Amino acid sequence: MKTEKAQRGNPLNRALAGSGFRMTRQRQTVYDTLMSQRDHPTADEVFGRVKKNMPSISLATVYNCLDKLVECGLVRQVNRDRDSTRYCANLREHGHFYCRDCGTVHDIDLPSGRPAELGLSLPPGFRVDHMDVNLRGVCPECGARGQS
Ligand SMILES: [Zn+2]
Ligand SMILES: [Zn+2]
Repeated sequence: MKTEKAQRGNPLNRALAGSGFRMTRQRQTVYDTLMSQRDHPTADEVFGRVKKNMPSISLATVYNCLDKLVECGLVRQVNRDRDSTRYCANLREHGHFYCRDCGTVHDIDLPSGRPAELGLSLPPGFRVDHMDVNLRGVCPECGARGQS
């Protein structure tokens, strides 16, 4: 059995293999930034964090890097109402929980399986490729605050 690390490989290189996507230092830095703090930052927030390691980078470049990473499937865009787009580098199938009090976005594991197995009944002939699960409510911290 191989080590866990070898089995997983570098998801970045795996996703990029054959996609024609070129990993530049800037894209790598933007991706690393998203991976290191998985709180679904907006592009502005990503810019602020990337700038610490790469002071010369511009907001336009960060937007461009994010676009490319989304395009090749390494990063997901998370949109909520008219809120700024947020970015998520968690590639596992998951849903998002939005706290209505503090505005944070949490990753929620989804049960694996097809929609029928999840209790959804689709009309005959429909086939699901992708599910977007968005939940709203109150996170544990805000819930605890409300009770005190
Ligand atoms: Zn909250
Ligand atoms: Zn997420």
